[in-house]
Amino acid sequence: MSEIIYPTTNLKVTETLTIERGDGAYVYDTEGKQYLEALAGLWCTSLGYNNRELIDTTTEQMGKLAYSHMFGGKTHQVGIDLSDKLAAMVPVENAKVFFGNSGSDANDTHIKMLRYYFNAIGKPEKFKIISRERSYHGVTVAAASLTGLPPNHTNFDLPFDALGVLRTDAPHYYRNALPGESEDQFVDRIVNNLEALILAEGADTIAAFIAEPITGASGVIVPPKGYYQKIQAVLNKHGILFWADEVITGFGRTGNDFGCTTMGIEKPAMMTLAKQLSSAYMPISASVIRGDMYEAMIEPSAKVGVFGHGYTYSGHPVAAAVALKTLEIYERDNIFGRAAELGEYMQTRLREFLDHPLVGEVRGEGMIAAVEMVADKQTGQPFEGGAVGTFAMQACQDHGMITRAVAANSLAFCPPLIVTVAQIDEMIEKLGLALNDTLDFVT
Ligand code: PLP
Repeated sequence: MSEIIYPTTNLKVTETLTIERGDGAYVYDTEGKQYLEALAGLWCTSLGYNNRELIDTTTEQMGKLAYSHMFGGKTHQVGIDLSDKLAAMVPVENAKVFFGNSGSDANDTHIKMLRYYFNAIGKPEKFKIISRERSYHGVTVAAASLTGLPPNHTNFDLPFDALGVLRTDAPHYYRNALPGESEDQFVDRIVNNLEALILAEGADTIAAFIAEPITGASGVIVPPKGYYQKIQAVLNKHGILFWADEVITGFGRTGNDFGCTTMGIEKPAMMTLAKQLSSAYMPISASVIRGDMYEAMIEPSAKVGVFGHGYTYSGHPVAAAVALKTLEIYERDNIFGRAAELGEYMQTRLREFLDHPLVGEVRGEGMIAAVEMVADKQTGQPFEGGAVGTFAMQACQDHGMITRAVAANSLAFCPPLIVTVAQIDEMIEKLGLALNDTLDFVT
């Protein structure tokens, strides 16, 4: 026990696992037991553990300039270089980059910039944001309000009404389709629901639609083909901005540079980046917006005398240096191309479990996936509560593999992008053992 209030933890459960060190795709506990990190920490340690280049970059930058801020015109080269690099990578037009420390605060920044922008162009009533059921956008008051998962709201009195968050369907065909509905019919129905929501609220009151191209924490939902094309057509028709939350899907996770590329999302107006931006070696995030949105914000800020938003650690030089090095390694070692190849292998191998009596659906793309366990394989009826997922996650851990249960009874897989084929095979073998243990538990 300790005095820590553990994040995203059942506070009644006192059992903990003390991780002491990591190397490559593995972490080790204080007893020296080895675990394959099948979730790359929290979907973030893309280059694995103990990466010498990232460690050296950290210490070199600390020696050179351990800290400097970016308020009131101060800047530093490594921050400039990182923003240039990101702006050249993202599909956002004439991108401008605001640095933060986490995905949650980056999403808060976006909400504030949306308000600033629409106030600047004389549309102060256009501030509502459409977010989906079963989405995860973080846990600060504003970001948690965007998040569409009940545990992030219950007892916190969220969502915060004043933010004007509207909710639309999760694009999960397996779970949410009506009986007999084809994928195309499902997509048409939920896109029609979106348009009906827009018409009911008034497009003039809605600023943006936020989506993770492929969701993570809510269960790795991969929307059916054509979904984003139809969603974007509706949004464009009504003058609503597309905001891609790429905190998990950014930087190779789905087998391409961004989830937008994989899912055919065109020219998002805004993009949230974090996690794999620095392979999680240092906390850093980026809120990216279109150049014209930034241009519109200049005059109003001059009137006030300041753009009154910024964190002590915005553009932290050590975090920026590590992120730059991470992006350099991605390019040099063709990490995204490798993720595409390995991803195909991982997805194929995971789908072998569709024959397992417990498994209802295997979903994913590239190097992110989930295996959903169900009470009835024929009907897809879910288990009640989350005990099965919790048991399976613990069984994985007992067999020397770390993963997380998401959407109650799905196990998530999102290993470091540097895993080998042999390590994917090891993951599959351990998952097989854990699923068999779980089958014994439920029968
Ligand atoms: N957005 C997405 C899509 C995420 O997956 C997460 C975290 O998992 C966040 C935002 C919040 O990021 P953070 O935990 O760094 O605040």
